[in-house]
Amino acid sequence: MTSGDITTLTPAVVIVGAGPSGLSAARELAPRINGDVLVLDRESTAGGIPRHSDHPGYGIRDMRRFMSGPAYARRLVRQAEAAGAKILTNATVTNWAGDRTIEATTPRGRVRVEARAVILATGARERPRPARLIPGDRAHGVYTTGHLQNLVHLQHGKVGKRAVVVGAELVSWSAALTLREAGCRTVLMTTEYPRPDSYSLFSVPGRILFRTRVATRTRVTKVIGRPELRAVEIGDLDTGRRRVVECDTLVLTGDWIPDHELVRAAGITMAPGTNGPLVDNALRTDRPGVFAVGNLLHPVDTADIAAIDGAHVVRAVIAWLRGGGTPAEQVRLIADAPFRWVAPEIFRPKDPAPARRRLLLWSDRYIPFPRIVLRQEGGSSPGSGCGGRRLPAGCSASRRASSPRSGRTPVRCTSAWRPDTSPVSGPRPHRSGAAHVSGVVRERGSRPRRGRAAWHRSPVGRQSGPSTEHGAAVPA
Ligand SMILES: Cc1cc2nc3c(=O)[nH]c(=O)nc-3n(C[C@H](O)[C@H](O)[C@H](O)COP(=O)(O)OP(=O)(O)OC[C@H]3O[C@@H](n4cnc5c(N)ncnc54)[C@H](O)[C@@H]3O)c2cc1C
Repeated sequence: MTSGDITTLTPAVVIVGAGPSGLSAARELAPRINGDVLVLDRESTAGGIPRHSDHPGYGIRDMRRFMSGPAYARRLVRQAEAAGAKILTNATVTNWAGDRTIEATTPRGRVRVEARAVILATGARERPRPARLIPGDRAHGVYTTGHLQNLVHLQHGKVGKRAVVVGAELVSWSAALTLREAGCRTVLMTTEYPRPDSYSLFSVPGRILFRTRVATRTRVTKVIGRPELRAVEIGDLDTGRRRVVECDTLVLTGDWIPDHELVRAAGITMAPGTNGPLVDNALRTDRPGVFAVGNLLHPVDTADIAAIDGAHVVRAVIAWLRGGGTPAEQVRLIADAPFRWVAPEIFRPKDPAPARRRLLLWSDRYIPFPRIVLRQEGGSSPGSGCGGRRLPAGCSASRRASSPRSGRTPVRCTSAWRPDTSPVSGPRPHRSGAAHVSGVVRERGSRPRRGRAAWHRSPVGRQSGPSTEHGAAVPA
């Protein structure tokens, strides 16, 4: 329907973002509901980041294939369309016009989409140079990985001959691969961590193949060259020594931030650790009928995990469309050091387990043999300490479940992992309604170190607000 210069569309579900998570949600939803599933994306081609990430490594867990990014993106688009979803590209969602009504700008004018459910799948991006506060000249030749891959793989543009890559994680090696394809040698990688933060499977062959040195515990302290980049100054974080490395290309990798502008604009509660929306294990936000999936929730994980989120949310969306409510019982998980965040942060025992039955945690420390134990404490719980108990099989301590590096750490939730959400009663020290989980981290050859994470439990029927005080009781 068109009125004035605005076209109004009324699908049952609108999905913002046509990356792996949004397209997977569309593929799974379209055949299962009455009404349309509409996917909007601001780019001219659907597929999200994998469109321009032209190397193998996509589709392993969701499609059981080992594909290149572009092939994976094309397949997701085909599947979503074959399932009956409609994809509208060049459509940037700019704002909300109601609880589940959004506005988009397209080359053909403004579009208002009035849906019964909204799924936010806007992904994450790498922080650009200004956000990283790197001093020096405003030189040409400074990119993020996304920008670089867009330039090389989609626009077939040129970069320089000698590059420094900031970061030594998986995505950094993806940048080095793209640079190599563009005829540019990666002369140095820098990381502030004491060791490369990607699997040795990638970093060891990467260093040999690209003849690249990884300078650990270093950072770029100055950009040199105007208008073209000529060099960067590298500072040693331990000794303070500085040196100049000649280069004409600088690629800033990692350091992710969710594309959360629509979340903020809606006033949806944010998760302080991830900077994405706060969601429960069914991937509901706190705005009824608005859900979130993919790297918007966990910046960042691999595409297949984002895609599995997309499939996971479908059950809750269908329940919402059928008039179902949200279970009131919930526990709140807040990750403490060495973890930066945990996703999802709200656990509702009456909902199905999180996607892949796993919590995702981001660790800031390299831990070769991590062991993570969830321990719930609280007034109603039997057990040791301050009325605490250990949830034995709750988060598996298997080595497989925890990546031997800093970065993401998936933790398997088993059926035994059922935090207590019953009302608190009795004259107990922790009768405030808080419940805690402690993580114990065991490093090779060392005694277990104690990291802490806290479950903040609301009494039945009450929502607890975000807490910044890890491990502290939240007054009921
Ligand atoms: C360089 C690089 C290499 C990688 N290599 C691998 C790999 O080998 N294997 C692997 O599995 N994963 C890899 N990944 C990770 C993978 O690409 C992501 O996990 C995946 O793309 C996340 O999917 P998503 O749907 O959450 O978000 P995205 O793919 O980021 O998609 C989000 C979409 O939302 C759209 N959007 C955002 N805001 C709006 C708006 N306001 N209006 C309309 N549209 C909007 C964007 O245009 C985008 O298309 C790599 C990532 C990078 C950056």
